[in-house]
Amino acid sequence: MKKSYDVILVGAGMVGALTANLLAQQGFHVALVDKGNGQCDLSTLPFYDARVSAVSRHSKALMDRAGAWQRIPSERLTPYHNMQVWDGLGRGEIGFSCDDVHLDELGHLVENQVLNQALLAQLETYPKQVDSFFACSVSHYQKQEHGMQVTLDNGQTLHADLLIAADGANSFIRAQAQIETKEWDYQHNAIVATIELSRSHENTAWQSFGEEGILAILPMPSFEGRHFASIVWSVPPEDAKDLLELDNDLFCKRLNYAISNEFEVLDVLTKRLSIPLRQRHALHYVQTGLALVGDAAHTIHPLAGQGANLGFADAGALVDVLIKAKERGESLSNERVLRRYQRNRMSDNIRMSASMEFFKRLYETQNPIAVFARNTGMSWMNKQRLVKNHIITLALG
Ligand SMILES: Cc1cc2nc3c(=O)[nH]c(=O)nc-3n(C[C@H](O)[C@H](O)[C@H](O)COP(=O)(O)OP(=O)(O)OC[C@H]3O[C@@H](n4cnc5c(N)ncnc54)[C@H](O)[C@@H]3O)c2cc1C
Repeated sequence: MKKSYDVILVGAGMVGALTANLLAQQGFHVALVDKGNGQCDLSTLPFYDARVSAVSRHSKALMDRAGAWQRIPSERLTPYHNMQVWDGLGRGEIGFSCDDVHLDELGHLVENQVLNQALLAQLETYPKQVDSFFACSVSHYQKQEHGMQVTLDNGQTLHADLLIAADGANSFIRAQAQIETKEWDYQHNAIVATIELSRSHENTAWQSFGEEGILAILPMPSFEGRHFASIVWSVPPEDAKDLLELDNDLFCKRLNYAISNEFEVLDVLTKRLSIPLRQRHALHYVQTGLALVGDAAHTIHPLAGQGANLGFADAGALVDVLIKAKERGESLSNERVLRRYQRNRMSDNIRMSASMEFFKRLYETQNPIAVFARNTGMSWMNKQRLVKNHIITLALG
């Protein structure tokens, strides 16, 4: 039997699950399809999951609006008040503080699984609005006169006005729609893991750029007097391979060196993962009856922790466009309607991608003149309150 919805949403990751919540809240009927089983795998404290996200204030507001933020257990949430960035090849450093912009925090660190679980749990409060199809993939889809017909790999057929692809960086739907991407390899892998520190991280996100790569030390909640952080260490692929092969003791020594001994790293609590990094940007986010959100539309270097935040902003913008279209009696599949979403988001996303590319290249060079100019620039900027406040405002989303 064919089932009909307003929206078929493929992908129940953080961005898809937020989009589904925002739609359901507004009375849209949603079919949510994901090849996973819809269960989040929460680790036991203090073995925080290695995949975490720095969530901006704007993203938090969207989660709040969806009713999901309130579901995140406080013991798995770390507000960060400061960001301290330094150049490992010189004396340049720059610090950002929430006090400078009169806010309680700059953002929060949260494990991806925890965030996703909160979003999926909130979705269960809309049993009339949302049907979930877990452990299912889309076999194919077809544009029809009114909307989209989607066939799942279990043989079920769904129909909706709009198909939203939130199926991640290697989006099957984007490929089927033949939407081209502009993409290149960053020639970096991110090593991620949870580590134990000798002292408190002081609710500060630390980031070092240097010959050892780009290393972020992201504060995680302290537990029974012990202190933890998540690392995102971006290095060339051959260095990543070497780092994965080191035993824990040697890995900690390399980490200590890379963070200029700001902390003593006592141990690594999780398996070290190595994630290849690639810049991708879809040339179009929409077609008649189809919209891309999150990593399906764009992926960027994680050096500023903005990828998911851009995806959450996509979700908010798309849902707002759909709410207005519904109020005006416009079809959700109309490409003219969907282009409003693309117009709203594409320039912000491109600007952020370009900034990541700029920073990656800026800090990659070890040319002494460039390193001197970079360090001088950082020290100068550290004294420019207005410029720094502007940067904070952008990062807050
Ligand atoms: C090392 C690293 C650190 C990062 N740190 C940050 C950070 O601090 N802050 C930040 O904002 N961002 C960060 N990011 C980016 C962030 O992780 C991603 O942007 C975000 O996870 C993308 O979410 P998504 O829901 O779009 O995609 P995904 O998380 O990839 O979800 C896609 C979903 O679609 C499902 N799916 C895929 N294919 C199919 C299919 N064919 N059929 C059905 N279902 C399918 C999958 O099962 C999955 O559930 C980081 C990225 C990396 C690599």
